[in-house]
Amino acid sequence: LEVSNKRNTIQRQLIYNAVKELDIHATAEQVVEYLAEKHPAIGRATVYRNLSYLSETGELLKICNFYGTTHYDHNCFEHYHFVCNNCKRIFDIFDTDNKLSNMLETFDDTNGFDVLAYNVSFSGLCWECKE
Ligand SMILES: [Zn+2]
Ligand SMILES: [Zn+2]
Repeated sequence: LEVSNKRNTIQRQLIYNAVKELDIHATAEQVVEYLAEKHPAIGRATVYRNLSYLSETGELLKICNFYGTTHYDHNCFEHYHFVCNNCKRIFDIFDTDNKLSNMLETFDDTNGFDVLAYNVSFSGLCWECKE
């Protein structure tokens, strides 16, 4: 049992690293493809299971875009996402002046909810697709 636990931990770390190295808000399939070359022993089911686990423990951030696809982000600090309608890539948006955070705080007060988490996404065209 100890040996298999150790193997699980190593595989989980490799899957986490893959998301980080890809650095593109990878989908599970992109992680599977990425690992297939380097670590063919890690199967598709293992990747999916560990990505779910890592997002439940908060080590990865799970993002659902407007197209029903799930992506994983290794950046767990507060930031927002922009989805390109054309290339479907997801970009980070940084709220440098805390404008969005302030707006969301106001929303919390005026509507009387206790907002514990939120997910803000923008969509449009990225600078490459705009041309
Ligand atoms: Zn684009
Ligand atoms: Zn992100």
